[in-house]
Amino acid sequence: MQVTNCAGRLAVRTGHGALTDAAVASQGRFGPDPQGAFDDWPAFRAWAGSLADEHSAAALVGSEVLGPPVPRPAQVFAIGLNYRAHAQESRLAVPDAPPTFTKFPTCLTGPHDSVVLPADTVDWEVELVVALGTRAEHVAPDDAWSHVAGVMVGQDLSERRLQTAGPAPQFSLGKSFPGFGPTGPALVTIDELTDPDDLELGCQLEDGEILQNSRTSDMVFPVPELIARLSAVCPLLPGDLIFTGTPSGVGAGRDPRVFLKPGDVLLSWIEGVGRLRNPMMAGTATTTP
Ligand code: ZN
Repeated sequence: MQVTNCAGRLAVRTGHGALTDAAVASQGRFGPDPQGAFDDWPAFRAWAGSLADEHSAAALVGSEVLGPPVPRPAQVFAIGLNYRAHAQESRLAVPDAPPTFTKFPTCLTGPHDSVVLPADTVDWEVELVVALGTRAEHVAPDDAWSHVAGVMVGQDLSERRLQTAGPAPQFSLGKSFPGFGPTGPALVTIDELTDPDDLELGCQLEDGEILQNSRTSDMVFPVPELIARLSAVCPLLPGDLIFTGTPSGVGAGRDPRVFLKPGDVLLSWIEGVGRLRNPMMAGTATTTP
């Protein structure tokens, strides 16, 4: 099942590919707000899974302009150095616990939205993004996937100068400018994936070279381990997101370093999940806080 945000309204893609407005098709049982699906995800999923094509035909969405499938999570966790080759290119040790920061939720944007570059040192990081469906607290790895609503493609766009400025890292601020969290194109439920722990992912510039290409099976801490370790500290809430870390190939790891420029179009994809297409636009210079 695929759940989308169509111009701010909760929608479901049915078996025939049509996008169905959830509020209209459910006759108001579920509201139009995409975040509202997480008020009772098991009930929403059961309803959406039983949605027959003939019942959805009269409730096609009015707009297919896609927003972030999970627009207002209470918490957004993000993991650093979760692929060995990326730790190596960053000249940092492979961690023995997942380094964790946040992307403040105002950075989230849609799968096809333009991103204004606030500096000339903005880098790409394609990532598998996991959305929680049910509260997870002190969860064992074996139970972790059962708390997941679905997965999305994400970009953990990163302003490297701010990220690394000062005596302590500023990961959370440097990765939270407006537009720095493209996600989508849909929230894809786990049953659609052959093996959710082994998905090819990558990114490239449109008409350009492939920048990153790896598999999620190369993660240092796989998704179940991340959920177990995060939920041992913070209860994870329905609709929370986890950016699970990026593979090697980032611009800051190259010699010389390469960053995104106005006019670049960044394509990001995950096998079986979908593709993001985000044009980069000129912005104003960064004001370092
Ligand atoms: Zn990242």
